[in-house]
Amino acid sequence: MSNAKDIKYHGRILQVAVPCPLRRVFDYLPPVDYSEAPLQIQPGIRVLIPFGNRQVIGILTKVLSGSRLSKNKLKPVISVLDSEPLFTPAIFKILSWGANYYQHPIGEVFATALPSKLRSGNSLKADIIGWKVSTSISDSDRESLGRAYKQKALLEFIEAAEEGKGPATNDGCLAAGFSQQLLAQLHKKHFIERQTYAVSKSKPFNPIVVTADKVPDLNDEQCVAVAAVIDKLSGFCCFLLDGVTGSGKTEVYMRVMHEQLSIGKQCLVLVPEIGLTPQITARFAKRFACSVVSLHSGLSDTERLSSWDRARDGNAGIIIGTRSAIFTPMANPGLIIVDEEHDNSFKQQDGFRYSARDLAVMRAREENICVILGSATPSLESLHNARQKKFEYLQLTTRAGTANPPTMEVVDISHESLVEGFSAQLLYKIQQHLVANNQVLVFINRRGFAPILNCQSCGWISECENCVAQLTVHANPPSMRCHHCGTIRQLSKFCPECKSKDLTTIGIGTQKVERFLRERFSSTEVLRIDRDSTRSKFKFTEMLQKIERGEPCILVGTQMLAKGHHFPNITLVAILDADAGLFSADFRGQEQMAQTIIQVAGRAGRAERAGEVIIQSRHSTHAALQRLINAPYSEFANLLLAERKTAAMPPYSYLCLIRAEAADLASAHSFLIRAATITDEMCEVQELPVERLGPLPAPMEKRNRRFRVHLLLKSSNRGALQDLLRQLCGRMETLKHPRALRWGIDVDPQDLI
Ligand code: ADP
Ligand code: ZN
Ligand code: ZN
Repeated sequence: MSNAKDIKYHGRILQVAVPCPLRRVFDYLPPVDYSEAPLQIQPGIRVLIPFGNRQVIGILTKVLSGSRLSKNKLKPVISVLDSEPLFTPAIFKILSWGANYYQHPIGEVFATALPSKLRSGNSLKADIIGWKVSTSISDSDRESLGRAYKQKALLEFIEAAEEGKGPATNDGCLAAGFSQQLLAQLHKKHFIERQTYAVSKSKPFNPIVVTADKVPDLNDEQCVAVAAVIDKLSGFCCFLLDGVTGSGKTEVYMRVMHEQLSIGKQCLVLVPEIGLTPQITARFAKRFACSVVSLHSGLSDTERLSSWDRARDGNAGIIIGTRSAIFTPMANPGLIIVDEEHDNSFKQQDGFRYSARDLAVMRAREENICVILGSATPSLESLHNARQKKFEYLQLTTRAGTANPPTMEVVDISHESLVEGFSAQLLYKIQQHLVANNQVLVFINRRGFAPILNCQSCGWISECENCVAQLTVHANPPSMRCHHCGTIRQLSKFCPECKSKDLTTIGIGTQKVERFLRERFSSTEVLRIDRDSTRSKFKFTEMLQKIERGEPCILVGTQMLAKGHHFPNITLVAILDADAGLFSADFRGQEQMAQTIIQVAGRAGRAERAGEVIIQSRHSTHAALQRLINAPYSEFANLLLAERKTAAMPPYSYLCLIRAEAADLASAHSFLIRAATITDEMCEVQELPVERLGPLPAPMEKRNRRFRVHLLLKSSNRGALQDLLRQLCGRMETLKHPRALRWGIDVDPQDLI
C-alpha cells in the first residue's frame, strides 16, 4: 500500500508501464536534456528506458510529483519516442481497466495493444525531427562561441525560425547549408535541444458514403431492428442482434453504419476469423464510398501499422479486424459491431487473456457509442444479459429475401457400416446435389489424415512423447504431428514396439475425407479448407473465389467453414459426426456443439435454391440433438441456461482458472496448494463468498513436456472474486517456486481444459 508519508517529492516523476511479467508500474525521472515544460510528456506516449541491464520501450502512464524512491535510486528516461499519445483516452482507460480485471501485467497489456512496429520503436509516421534553442542558454554561453561563426549562425538560424514560421526542422537546417556535424556540436554543448514534431494528420474520410450498389428493401423485422438502434445512436447502448443464419444481420449493420458514416463517424467491425475479412471488406467497400481498412494477423507489419494509423487519425471510415482490433484507436468513433459474438476466438487464449467481445461493450460505454453484438447462436452470457435487460434484444427470425431455412435430418449410423465415415444414404444425397449442379459442404472437425496410427499385432498407438495426446497422421507430406505441441515425426513404416508392419490408421480427418471424395466423385472438384490448407492467405482467397464462381464442387472443412461465410450455391451440408460435442466433458461442450452445428447448417440454401442438412450420429434420439434440429436455438439455449443455473455455472456465476505448469507434476501442484491456502485464509478473514475447487491435474495433464495443474475459483459475486484475485495475485507473485514453473490467470475462462 502506498502511504502518503512515504512519498518523496522531487519534481516531475514519470510513471511507466514496462512490458515485463510484473503487475506494477515503474518510476523514472524525465530525460536529462528535457527542459521544464515540454508538452510532449503526457500519458500514452512511448519512452525508451533503462530496465535492468537492457533498454526497453514502455508507455508513460502518469506524470507525478513524487515517488516512494529517493531521487538517487531513480534513473532518467533515455528518450521520449512520441510527440503525442498513441492511445486515445478511451483506449487508455480500457487497457488500464483490462489489466486490472484480467489480472495481467499492465506493461504487457499496453504492448499487446500496439502494432508490432510501434512496439519495437518505429515512429508512427516518420516524425519530423527539429531543433530549438535551450531555455537555459545564457549570454556568456553565447559569447563562449567566440569565433565559431558557423555555430553562431546556426544558433541564430534556429532562433529566427522559432520566432518566425515554426520549428527549425533538421532537414531545414541542412537545406540552409548547415551540416549535421555542426548541429551535433551545438547539441553536445546543450545550446540546442532535439524535438520531434508529428507530421500533419491525413484527412478524415469523406462522409458522402452512398454508392451505386443496389440496396434491398428491409423486411419488417430488419426495419424494427434498424430503427431501434438508430433511436439510441446518440449515446451508449448495447444491442444483442439474435438473427438466424441468412436473416440479413449484415444488412442491418450496414444501415446503422450508414447513419454514422454519413456524419463522419467511424465504425469498427470485429469478425472471428481472418478468413472472413476479404468477403466482408468487399461487401462494405461495394456499399460505402469511404475507405475501409482491415487489421489482422495476415497483414505485414507495415500494412498493419498503416491501417492502425488511418483509424487513429480518422482517415478510415470502416475498420474491420479480428480480436485485437478492439484496441484500434479511432479519432471519431461512432459504432462497434461484434459479428458472430458467440465465437471462441474473441477470447485470447494466452498471455493477456481478454475477451474482445466484453471489452467491446466496455469500450462502447467509455466512448459513449452503441455496440451491436450479432449472432445466429448468441452465447448464453449475452442471452442472459439481454434477459436481465442489460442488453437490448433484437430478433430476426426468418431468412431475408426469398431464401427458406434448410431442412435438417439426423441419420442414425449406429448400425451402419460406414465408408470412410460416410453412410450410404449420405453418399447418395451428395450425388443428387452434385447432379443438380449444386455445391456440397462436408464438415468434420479434425484436420490431418487420421487421428491415430495403430499396430494391429500388439496394439501400439502413436503417442506424443511431450503430451498426453495422440499423434495425428498427416498425408502431405507423410508424417505424424502433435496438434498440441507441434512435434513432427516421420511416419512409422513399422511398429516401434514389435517391429510389425501391420499398421493402420483409426478414425478420419479432413485429408482422408478429401482423398476418399476425390476417388468417389472423380469428375468433381474437392476443396479442403482447414488450417493446413489455408496457411497462405492467397490460397484461401483463391479457394473462396472458386466457390463463389458457383460451379459444382465439394468443400471439406473444419470449424473455419462454419463461420459466417456466405456461399449462395451450397445446398447440402453434411455433418459427419455430431457425437463428440454431445458428450464433451467441458461445461461449454453442448453450447459449442449446438453453435457449430447451427452455424455449419446455416451455410446451406442461402439463396434461391433450398438447402438440406444431414447430421450423422450414433445417438440420433439424444434429447439435446433432437431439440436442436426440431426447435429454434433459443429453446435449446433455455434448456442449457436452466442447467447452468442449477449447477451455478456461468452466466449464473463467475469463474477464474489459475493454471500452473512445471517440469514435474508435484511442484506445479504444491505451488497451487499454497495459492489455495492463501485463498482460504483471505476468504475466511474477509468473508469473501468465493468457492475454491482443486488444485487438480488439468484434463490434459501434460502438454509440451510440462505438467499442468488447475485451481478453479468460483463466485456469484463478481466484485468479491475480483477483490480476492487482486490480493491473491500480489501474494502469488512473491511465492518462491522452481525457475521453470509458470503460472497464469484466466478470468472468465472459455474452457477448463
Ligand atoms: P446474415 O448476416 O444474417 O447471415 P446476410 O446479411 O449475409 O445474413 O444476408 C443474407 C443474404 O440475404 C444476402 O445475400 C443479403 O444481401 C440478402 N438480404 C439481406 N436483407 C435482405 C432483404 N431485406 N431483402 C432481400 N435480400 C436481403
Ligand atoms: Zn506392434
Ligand atoms: Zn505434443
